[in-house]
Amino acid sequence: MGIHGLKTPSRQHRQKLSRVQTKGDFGVQAFAVEHKLNALSAASNATLAEAILLQRMTMRILNMRHIEALARDRMMAGIPSIDPVDGAAVVGCFCYRVSPDVGFHQGVDLGASYGETVRATAAGTVATADWDGGFGQKVDIDHGNGYHTWYAHLSRIDVGVGDRVVKGQPIALVGSTGFSTGPHLHYQVMLNGTPIDPEPYLAGVPPKVLAALP
Ligand SMILES: [Zn+2]
Repeated sequence: MGIHGLKTPSRQHRQKLSRVQTKGDFGVQAFAVEHKLNALSAASNATLAEAILLQRMTMRILNMRHIEALARDRMMAGIPSIDPVDGAAVVGCFCYRVSPDVGFHQGVDLGASYGETVRATAAGTVATADWDGGFGQKVDIDHGNGYHTWYAHLSRIDVGVGDRVVKGQPIALVGSTGFSTGPHLHYQVMLNGTPIDPEPYLAGVPPKVLAALP
């Protein structure tokens, strides 16, 4: 880029210029000014290119963060984190017991009345919704990431295999079907095929599970 738009020097100015020229360094000065302008122009072009690059990088980072946040929300929705029967107390622990039968009780029993609403404790897809031996009428929901929840001894099932459910959605009613001594909900949480203690998952995602999320 050269020097553009220079005004024609005034008479007085011309005299000054000619004196400078006489000294023989005007050409050198003009060259130096032009050189400086070129350098400034190149620098500003470089700055603009850098600014555009920075802007693109920022957009990319913001998009990545947005996608990460969406993925995290999706994972959170699929982790059991509510009481399947509103306000129900744990009346049977995830523990070894001798009554009503001897063995390790692989879920918790929640005290509830006949006909109370049973809710999906996380978003997922209904894997089974049928009679299952001692569990009586049972619903199994697949939440992804290895989590399944089981709801047993139901009096009524309101979902079918393949149904998509959201967290908190009513899926069934409390009952006493199968091997049961009275109305209650047997609630079981499975992780990668192994029963885990549901109690830490009744009132929110357990802190250690939260900490392990990406
Ligand atoms: Zn039980």
